[in-house]
Amino acid sequence: MTDNVPLLLKALEFAAIKHSGQRRKGASAAPYINHPIAVANILANEGGATDPVVLAAALLHDTIEDTGATREELERLFGPDVARIVAEVSDDKSLPKEERKRLQIEHSAHISREAKLVKLADKIANLRETVTDPPATWSAERRREYFEWAKAVVGQMRGTHEGLERVFDETYARKPADSNGESPGVGMEKE
Ligand code: ZN
Repeated sequence: MTDNVPLLLKALEFAAIKHSGQRRKGASAAPYINHPIAVANILANEGGATDPVVLAAALLHDTIEDTGATREELERLFGPDVARIVAEVSDDKSLPKEERKRLQIEHSAHISREAKLVKLADKIANLRETVTDPPATWSAERRREYFEWAKAVVGQMRGTHEGLERVFDETYARKPADSNGESPGVGMEKE
């Protein structure tokens, strides 16, 4: 593991630079980099992941989708496996938001095991943030819809990692209470 520290620090610095100036959309507007750090931390310390390729991909997982980084750039700096995993978990931002959310459910069944691990940890981190620091404009119903959508994505990846799936289920149990007994539809906004 010690041998992998340089790679992980390089990935962390790259992600920090690429995401600099970006904020999470929670009410506290936390620095964006907190999120990829949380995802890598969940993988390592809750999922027991030690594969540096997976952990580096976790740190970089939003750089193609949300910054100017390209797959070629990641491949040059971090190798083809890291670049491929990040590409696998990236939405196509040229598509409408609703279509992207639908495609995440459809595609998550068919990505590599490494990409599924990153996506599982990503959904855990996002649900936690939806509980602890939701966007100021999100109603309880909107938050519930987000939980439902995340569950639909994770439902396509069952059997990937028992421990992380259990952590997801524990996090899902914190879904905001339903005030009217109705089940919300699938959320249609980007996380
Ligand atoms: Zn993410």
